Amino acid sequence: MSKIWYPYAQHKHLSTPLEVTHADGVFLTLSDGHQLIDGISSWWSTIHGYNHPRLNKALTSQLNDFSHVMLGGLTHAPAQNLASCLIDITPEGLNHVFYADSGSVGCEVALKLAIQFWHNKGRSQKTKFLALNRGYHGDTCGVMSVGNPEDDCPSMHRIFSGIMPSQYFVSEPKMGFNADPHQLQADLDQLTQMITQHHDSLAGFILEPIMQGAGGFNFYSPDYLRAAYELCKAHDVLLICDEVATGFGRTGTLFASNHANITPDIMVLGKALTAGYTGHSATLTTSAIFDQFWSDSFQDAFMHGPTFMGNPLACAVAYESIQLFQEEHMLDNIKCIDSHLQSALLSFEHDHVIDTRVLGAVGVIEVSDARYLKGFQDYALRNGVWLRPFDRYLYTTPPYCISLDQLSQVTSTMTQWFSSHHYPHYT
Ligand SMILES: *Cc1c(COP(=O)(O)O)cnc(C)c1O
Repeated sequence: MSKIWYPYAQHKHLSTPLEVTHADGVFLTLSDGHQLIDGISSWWSTIHGYNHPRLNKALTSQLNDFSHVMLGGLTHAPAQNLASCLIDITPEGLNHVFYADSGSVGCEVALKLAIQFWHNKGRSQKTKFLALNRGYHGDTCGVMSVGNPEDDCPSMHRIFSGIMPSQYFVSEPKMGFNADPHQLQADLDQLTQMITQHHDSLAGFILEPIMQGAGGFNFYSPDYLRAAYELCKAHDVLLICDEVATGFGRTGTLFASNHANITPDIMVLGKALTAGYTGHSATLTTSAIFDQFWSDSFQDAFMHGPTFMGNPLACAVAYESIQLFQEEHMLDNIKCIDSHLQSALLSFEHDHVIDTRVLGAVGVIEVSDARYLKGFQDYALRNGVWLRPFDRYLYTTPPYCISLDQLSQVTSTMTQWFSSHHYPHYT
């Protein structure tokens, strides 16, 4: 019987989780001494690898000063320095930072800010959100309401539908990152129709820019994002870019919004923000939004304040992670990872593989049926690699410090699976 309740798991069928006793660079060391290359950066977060001397130092040095104080009525240099740094590196015009303790809560903050922004402007009928099918914005109730509404992929939300607000959805863009503008027309027509029809009740449009992650690694064109931005502007709908997964280089640019050269009204950062050292998130807004909460009335203020918002340890390590990212030209590493992933995965063919795709430091093999990935995780362990496919997707999101040899070990594990004798043959 498990004392720990593990995530997304049917405990009756859960095999014993592997115990990690040490982690260093790209390697996880297990209690039996085995070393594994982490091919998924602990859910996209540990971008610089584990146990990084500079990140450790930033953390211990802050620890020796103080590890936490409330941000209500108190402030501190780590929170201030990180805010300045985030404002510098995110798209021009994002000038204010609200901290929270996880990506889900960061997105909740984004939704609440959007609704109250319109309320403070005297347009209190704008309380709904538009979202993309197959989107994912976290597991708390507010953001579940803007997550994938369909039942085809692991959708855990249906039984909660009674307590969630109902929102508007459009199909996810279907034509890929390099789609020609004319191929986007059908998706854009649908988006245009939804926005023109419902803008009076819409507070915002929330999406994962360029890459939908948990909903199945759907990569889409910057032209779509750009058009969404223009439509939102034209119809008084706030654009909320959830960059919790895409932020900090994952799609090949520092932020996915950079591909379309846009400044969203609200941007949410999480996961890699602290390089995977601690939970934290940052919700950034423009001054136009901030100013709408600025008045002589307390009623206009934003009533939200997680206990651990702006935690000094989180802020100190996040700040150091960004310095490291820039000093070590991490975008160049990501380019190398991208070209390796392209040459290893894009031409791979197999009867049950329906697509392979790569963007930045994300590589995906999509199979026609989840059963073809059954047993893969154990196979990868025997190859010294930690990968954890979900649904029909076999994917890697490696740490940016991975060497090309190590990356080859990851990608050959992914492709050789299909010719290994462990591969399940269904008729
Ligand atoms: C993981 C994720 C979240 C939720 O972040 P948590 O820290 O797990 O709460 C939100 N949005 C996206 C796009 C994510 O990938």
